[in-house]
Order: sequence, then structure tokens, then C-alpha cells
Amino acid sequence: MVARIVAAGLVSDPRVIEALGVVPRHLFVPKALVAEAYGDHALPIGAGQTITQAANVGRAAELAAIRPDARVLEIGTGSGYQAAVLARLAGQVFSLERIPELAAEARRVLAFLGVRNVSVKVFDGTYGWREHAPYDAIVVAAAAPDIPAPLVSQLSATGRLVVPVGPANRQRLLVVKKLPSGRTRTEDAGDVAYVPLVGKFGWGKAPTEVGS
Ligand code: SAH
Repeated sequence: MVARIVAAGLVSDPRVIEALGVVPRHLFVPKALVAEAYGDHALPIGAGQTITQAANVGRAAELAAIRPDARVLEIGTGSGYQAAVLARLAGQVFSLERIPELAAEARRVLAFLGVRNVSVKVFDGTYGWREHAPYDAIVVAAAAPDIPAPLVSQLSATGRLVVPVGPANRQRLLVVKKLPSGRTRTEDAGDVAYVPLVGKFGWGKAPTEVGS
């Protein structure tokens, strides 16, 4: 899987390649899907959500330019797979998930793997996690209608926010970079497809919740 991602030119940072190679993706998918865990595609993890495609995890991590001492915020813990990859690259990872059952299962797998530098909390991640801000990198694992303003405000002076922005099934992966002047510069890193970011500064409701 990792060799294919590298061959496709999606990831080139050696630290990111190492992290993708080391984290056992099969532990983060339902037992019935273990055989498919190393195909580079999204897989269902319950509650209508999916584990992030490994190529997208690598791509986002690379764009976030995570240093070994970095403090990272992830929005959308899901299975915990991306959190485990980020934990390998960073000093400390804080991860927010809106669905309690997914957060509980992710915590269980991360503990099983002995990953100690990830804190998972059930919360609407579109607000960020102010208590631990500022972050050197914020990686959003779900697609927002616009760049969520609270996340930009929680970046460090040189921080980077990686966030997919756009409607269902087709988004642009945006990288918001804080500049020394305090301003930001946004770059477009191409097409992606993520599940929706549901919350105050995301889509108001999940598609299945609309009208309910
Ligand atoms: N990084 C995860 C990806 C899971 S899919 C993995 O590697 O498995 C995206 C996740 O974002 C889903 O679990 C979904 O419930 C969560 N999510 C969506 N909107 C959210 C919000 N506002 N706050 C926190 N989590 C959110």
C-alpha cells in the first residue's frame, strides 16, 4: 500500500512514509474488513463514517509539515488511524470526534497499540480545542463548507491548517499557512473526497439528519 502511494507521487517525506509503514491499519477497521485494510481506499467504520484513505492521511501529514516536537490538533478521530500516524510524527496529538462510540473504540485501539501521546475528546471539532492551543498543525479529516474560523485562530505563529473544503464527494484540500506577519496564505493542494464535517462551523447537520 505504502509503495503504491509513494509511486503515485502522493507522499515523499521519509518520516511520513515511515509512519504509514509502521501503523497497523488493519487494527483500525472492523474485523470483517481486515482483508481490505491495506487497499488504499476508505472503508466503513460504523456510524456512517469511514477510515481516512491512507494516501490522504499521508498527504495531509506531509502538507502539515509536522516536526517531532509539534503539537497537533486532529478534527475527526474516527477509527483513530490518522491519529496514530500523526502521533508517530508529532510530540502531542489532540483529537476531537463528535460520535462517542467512535471515540471510545479509537481510544481502545490506540491504548492497545501503546500510543501514549494522543488525547481523544468527544466534542464538536469545528470549535477547535482552545485549552491546548496554539497548534503547530491542525488536520481536519472531514470536509467543511468553508475554512472554520476558530481553527485558524488556534494556529501557532507559523502553524498550518489542512482542511478539505467543498460539497459532498468532491472537495479541494486547502492548506492555510500562518505567516510571521500574522496574516494567512491559503494554498490549494488538489481534489479530495471526505465525509462531511458536521457542526457549528461546518455543515449544520449530517445528510442523514437533514429534516430530522
Ligand atoms: N481520521 C479518521 C477519519 C474518520 S472520518 C480515521 O482515520 O479513521 C471523519 C470523522 O470526522 C468521522 O468519524 C466523523 O464523525 C467526524 N466528524 C465529523 N464532523 C465532526 C466534528 N464537527 N467534530 C468532530 N468530529 C467530526
